[in-house]
Order: sequence, then structure tokens, then C-alpha cells
Amino acid sequence: MIKLRIISSKFDLHCHSTYSDGVLRPDELVRRAARRGVSVLALTDHDETGGVAEAHRLAAGEGVEIVNGVEISVTWNSQTLHIVGLHIDPAHPELASGLNGLREGRRRRAEQIADELDKAGVEGSLAGARAHVTNPELVGRTHFARFLAERGHARDVNSVFRKFLVHGKPGHVPHLWAGLEQAIGWIRASGGMAVLAHPGRYKLDEPQRCALLAAFKEAGGAAIEVVTGSHTPAQFQSYARYAQRYGLLASAGSDFHGPGESYRDLGELPDLPRGCTPVWAAW
Ligand code: AMP
Ligand code: MN
Ligand code: MN
Ligand code: MN
Repeated sequence: MIKLRIISSKFDLHCHSTYSDGVLRPDELVRRAARRGVSVLALTDHDETGGVAEAHRLAAGEGVEIVNGVEISVTWNSQTLHIVGLHIDPAHPELASGLNGLREGRRRRAEQIADELDKAGVEGSLAGARAHVTNPELVGRTHFARFLAERGHARDVNSVFRKFLVHGKPGHVPHLWAGLEQAIGWIRASGGMAVLAHPGRYKLDEPQRCALLAAFKEAGGAAIEVVTGSHTPAQFQSYARYAQRYGLLASAGSDFHGPGESYRDLGELPDLPRGCTPVWAAW
């Protein structure tokens, strides 16, 4: 019975809604997922779980199973990392207050980002970014990027991140997020599994990458994203090997933010490489 479900189900365990920096509402995401053959969908908004209840409301009617998720921002060795929590309980007080603190930090950071952009001659970015914010609780760099693209400072949102908002460019602000152990602790306390998001995106050399995987495992991490929108086919294979080497399960998620803004659409993911144990194996 369980095996049959695994074989016949299509999993997409990472995407964003208007509760963070996605462009579709949770109900629109669920409909799109259903249309594209996704049967198990995790909504993983940045530092926010408000969309999960809305996703559930529509999911049964569409034949989609919703996994309660979140993508937590973490600072580890001066690097920003993202840790996805799957099957979390959004109402768990420890998780909820941790995420609330991160969102407060985001508000302060937004003002600093706007100050930095002012210094670089880009005025009005706080109001401009807020015009793109769809959850007043959650402001992120993507909202600034949409404003900058709209003003013609770059061709599109992706190109903005080559010229602004990143280390060494206008609008960059260093920020202290949650600790790695802290984020994994919140996820586990709420009954969830911790997944290292898009590991191929971090600028780490091989020893640093191994140190991260070891620290993640040691802190109670369960899985890494092997198949994700930003990995190349070669990275699918290499992260499948890392998962095996570190005794971690393998996850798959598009990291979809909206039509035309993401590498992969919902469900547009290849199967996990052979030899991986899927994060959903025991669900
Ligand atoms: P924040 O958590 O507010 O710092 O924003 C991080 C978000 O910015 C990511 O989740 C992406 O949605 C977006 N982002 C970061 N880098 C890029 C990039 N190079 N291209 C497109 N979007 C990016
Ligand atoms: Mn995002
Ligand atoms: Mn991410
Ligand atoms: Mn994401």
C-alpha cells in the first residue's frame, strides 16, 4: 500500500506563495500543482507558515495532499543557508516565536536595504518594495528586486540579483538569521523533519561543504534537497552521493515562486537518482 503510493505519487516539497515572496496565492498554487500532476505539495514560505491553512482548504477537492512546510533563514559560518521544515506544526509555540523573531529582523533589514539603495542613488525603494509585498509581515529581497526590475535597473528579477542586493553590490546588508541548531531545533520540536535546501547554491569549497553536511547531520538534520530547481543534472548526481555519504534522505522541490520567475515550474522535476532514499519513504 505505502509502496504503491510512493510510486504513483508526484512530490514537490518546496514552493512559495504570496505569504512570502511567491506571486500566487496558496489556492492558486494548489490548483496549478493539481493541473501539473503533483499529488503531494509542501508549501514552504520563507520564515512564515500563514499560507498552510489556506492551502489545506482547497487541497482535498483538488486531489492534492499538503505537507505543512516552512523555509527558515539561517546564518552558519557567516553564510546564509535555508533549512526547509516538512510536516511541521505551524501552531507550535517554539517554532512560531522563532519565525516571528525572524520576520521582525526582516523589517529592520528592509529599512537598512532602502538606506543602502538611497546611498547608491535609488530612491523610494522602501515604498516601492512594499508595493510588491503581499504579506505585511514578510518583506524580502525579492520584493526589492521586483521594484528594481520594474524601474528598469535590470532586465528582470533574476538579473537584479547580479547587480544589486548581493554581497559587494548596492543594497546589500549583512544580516544575522537563526542559528543552524536553533532552526533545526524549532522544526524538530514541532514534529517536523529538517531538510537542507538547494545545497548547490551556497558558495562553499569542498571542505566547507563537507563541514556543513556534517554539522547539519549532527544537529539533527534529516535530508538534503537533491533535486531542486537550481541544481544542474550533474548536481542531482553529486548531491545524491553526498546524501548517501552523510546518511541523509533525499528531497525534491521546485522552489517555484511564480510563472516566469523560477527555474522550474511546479512538478517540473526529474525523479530522484537511483540509490537515494526519498525523504517521504517513511511517510
Ligand atoms: P531574502 O530571504 O529576503 O534574503 O531573499 C531571498 C530570496 O531572494 C530567495 O528565496 C529568492 O527568492 C530570491 N533570490 C536570491 N538570489 C536570487 C537570484 N540570484 N535570482 C533570483 N532570485 C533570487
Ligand atoms: Mn524566495
Ligand atoms: Mn531558498
Ligand atoms: Mn525557497
